[in-house]
Amino acid sequence: MPLKLDMIIIGSGPGGIAAGLLAKQQSKSFVILEKGSHAMQGIIDTYPRGKKVYPTIPKSYKDPFPVLEIKPPDEKIPVEKYVEQAQTVMDRNDLKIHFNEEFKEIDGTFPDYIVKTNQGSYLTRNIILAFGSNIPNDLGIYGEAKTVARNIENGEDYIGINVLVIGGGNAAADVVSSLSKIKREAVGDDTSVYWAHIKETFEINKDTARDLGEEVLLGGHIKILQKAIPKIGEVDADGIDRLYIHQATSSGLGDDLYLYQGMSFPMKNVIACIGTHGPSAIFDKLNLQQITCTGAICKIAREGERLLMLSDHLETGKNGIYALGGAISPSYMEIASDGIIKEKKHPNLIYTAILDAQKVMNKILKE
Ligand SMILES: Cc1cc2nc3c(=O)[nH]c(=O)nc-3n(C[C@H](O)[C@H](O)[C@H](O)COP(=O)(O)OP(=O)(O)OC[C@H]3O[C@@H](n4cnc5c(N)ncnc54)[C@H](O)[C@@H]3O)c2cc1C
Repeated sequence: MPLKLDMIIIGSGPGGIAAGLLAKQQSKSFVILEKGSHAMQGIIDTYPRGKKVYPTIPKSYKDPFPVLEIKPPDEKIPVEKYVEQAQTVMDRNDLKIHFNEEFKEIDGTFPDYIVKTNQGSYLTRNIILAFGSNIPNDLGIYGEAKTVARNIENGEDYIGINVLVIGGGNAAADVVSSLSKIKREAVGDDTSVYWAHIKETFEINKDTARDLGEEVLLGGHIKILQKAIPKIGEVDADGIDRLYIHQATSSGLGDDLYLYQGMSFPMKNVIACIGTHGPSAIFDKLNLQQITCTGAICKIAREGERLLMLSDHLETGKNGIYALGGAISPSYMEIASDGIIKEKKHPNLIYTAILDAQKVMNKILKE
């Protein structure tokens, strides 16, 4: 096992980058993990192209914007420029991020946590959960497909292979049209993008529909599978994980007989864009204490929603594990130093994520 780090920062959104910059200024040892291939991947995945970024500070907050280098400028720049700004700041500060490295689980106890990723493990004293609020839903089938929130990275990897995209919304549609374009522009690629949705109708907005229509008219190989149900993950005779997906049954065979028309894709060729969920399930998996909301105690969260319990320094119920930014928005349960627990409003903004990073670092630096 390598040397013990002062901290592992999970996620390279505004919160994770701010924490990294502050840790660097204090000469702390740390690693930033990012499951995508760019800094601010969460923002790249969720903002529409060209969206203007606002440096909003809610009225009730009195602190100035901390870590000014990653504050969006007052003149409201497009998201692409904001991502560029973050990259420049990282280059200038020589802030290294471990891209394509996805956090999986935590073992051990404070001060010797082991953080496991898809690439290995790290020994660390503190962990900062800065993974935002948009966790792509899993298909829930053996031999998991690649899951994405909105954009497909490395679309070129799909040249020359038939690929299956699952999902009926804008995210799936964006992935289908961008993969189709990449394949169409690649010389001699006559493979297809199969697009499957469990329902008959797809729910996409006008702009996305226009891009998709244009792609079809330009000769994109898109094959639509309506009412298609991802059924089972299986391992074939060559040891390859595959997904079997089938469409509606035909009738006329008697009450207890079904005729399925199905297709089987290698799981590595399957991309699931089936929505996102909040991080509550991850907090559960990590055994972090949460409170279930009832009308009497929650004003912001809905009945039945589960809120993470945090100290006023955003430390979870486990020493040395902190959560910040989008991951704890729009509210969490604060345990004040006098032991009183109350729901705390936490707007999901770049400002709050950066302010949180400063709060967490102040606590870690006091140790
Ligand atoms: C469409 C839209 C427009 C918005 N406009 C504004 C605006 O104008 N101004 C403003 O202040 N706020 C805006 N927001 C909100 C703002 O983007 C968020 O509050 C902010 O991005 C939260 O930062 P974060 O660092 O907590 O999380 P994120 O920015 O979500 O970053 C989390 C990072 O963690 C990575 N990650 C996730 N899981 C893992 C894992 N298991 N392992 C490794 N890495 C992982 C993700 O890939 C991501 O890069 C907007 C949000 C949306 C959706």
